[in-house]
Amino acid sequence: MSTDFDVLVVGAGIQGAGAAEALTRAGYRVAILEQLDIAAGTSSRSSKLIHGGLRYLESGQLGLVRECLRERRWLLANKPRLVRLVPFYIPVYRYSQRPAWLVRLGLTLYALLAGVADRHSRFRTLRRSEWERLSGLETEDLVAVFRYYDAQTDDAALTRDVVESAIAGGARLICPGSLVGAELTATGVRVDYVADGQLSTLHARALVNCSGPWVADTNSRCSPPVPLPPLDLVAGTHIQLPISLGERIFYLEAEDGRAVFVMPWQGKTLVGTTERSYGGDPRDLAPTIEEENYLLRTVQRCFPQTRSLQVHNICDSYAGLRVLPRDNKRPFSRPRETMICAESDRKPRMLAVAGGKLTSYRATARRIVKTLRPTLKAGGNGGGGLSKGRGRTAVSEKERNL
Ligand SMILES: Cc1cc2nc3c(=O)[nH]c(=O)nc-3n(C[C@H](O)[C@H](O)[C@H](O)COP(=O)(O)OP(=O)(O)OC[C@H]3O[C@@H](n4cnc5c(N)ncnc54)[C@H](O)[C@@H]3O)c2cc1C
Repeated sequence: MSTDFDVLVVGAGIQGAGAAEALTRAGYRVAILEQLDIAAGTSSRSSKLIHGGLRYLESGQLGLVRECLRERRWLLANKPRLVRLVPFYIPVYRYSQRPAWLVRLGLTLYALLAGVADRHSRFRTLRRSEWERLSGLETEDLVAVFRYYDAQTDDAALTRDVVESAIAGGARLICPGSLVGAELTATGVRVDYVADGQLSTLHARALVNCSGPWVADTNSRCSPPVPLPPLDLVAGTHIQLPISLGERIFYLEAEDGRAVFVMPWQGKTLVGTTERSYGGDPRDLAPTIEEENYLLRTVQRCFPQTRSLQVHNICDSYAGLRVLPRDNKRPFSRPRETMICAESDRKPRMLAVAGGKLTSYRATARRIVKTLRPTLKAGGNGGGGLSKGRGRTAVSEKERNL
């Protein structure tokens, strides 16, 4: 049986976009199936940071931090329209759970992991005379303020950019199109999907499930399903306040010791995030009033000028879902590495991608290409180096270019 595509990628979030871009660059014929819209899931609901993740040092995820800092360097250099360097400020108060020496140690390690050659890795302690210039930051009980640099992006725009790049490389986008079922065949994978209210079928040599919070649901529609570790969905909420605190990001400690970011966003201020276990349908996710109050309290503790704001003054709020490995630790300290699971160790035809970071999408994509290479090399079309645009006619009336 002939195949329409080498790889079908399910999901046009950042992971699906990155996988499709890397696979087309490697010369494979790729289709992306997206049920809602590009970046309609978690990839438009993140904190929008391109960062190593200073806080992951506390849980010993040094490899992840190093990889993300490398990716940050690449993104700053190669996507300057979408990724920009921003100063981050960490105020340390007398009552903070992390004393100044610990923050300094963390920033030193962060700079070392970024590499001495990375000019963005410098940090410093602000002089007291500079505290007054920090957007009205509360100075009572303040003992130190550190400044370092990380990057901010528009997560949805970045995802769209990567999808566009995949399409320019020959990938087909089927959107809206929802996977109904996928089954291994002698030559690859048969995929049934619904688009324009019609059930259609395509054939691919491999399938990559990048459906984010839907990963387990999509996997359950695959036969055989990929063995996935037990996973939890953890919701994170952001609120937007109708004020501006300048073009800088504050890294605050909330009352329970969690890190909360206060960021400039579209002329206003974005505050996030929370962590709450979630067991419902990802489509029904919404911020709760408790989360909104928690975030408001956190920002009010450090910025007196926001103390008059109440929940009804919040101009917008949104929530996204992290996919984390299940264990007894608080979500805060659970591993954030991407999990790539396969239905077989040798020549896998179905992969499921769970978790991971926006920042490290290219690293994840490289691992996907590497995992699929033995499969795509064997038989069929001979793997890599295929001419761009092959398979263009396969799902013509259902597909659309961006
Ligand atoms: C609150 C929060 C803050 C975060 N902040 C940051 C940050 O600042 N920096 C950072 O690097 N990372 C951050 N992350 C992590 C990052 O946002 C995610 O890892 C990333 O967006 C996940 O992308 P994804 O492609 O896996 O999933 P998604 O973006 O959710 O994409 C999955 C797509 O699959 C589609 N889909 C699902 N099922 C089907 C189906 N059956 N058929 C067709 N399509 C389907 C969905 O519609 C969706 O569009 C954050 C995450 C959260 C939750």
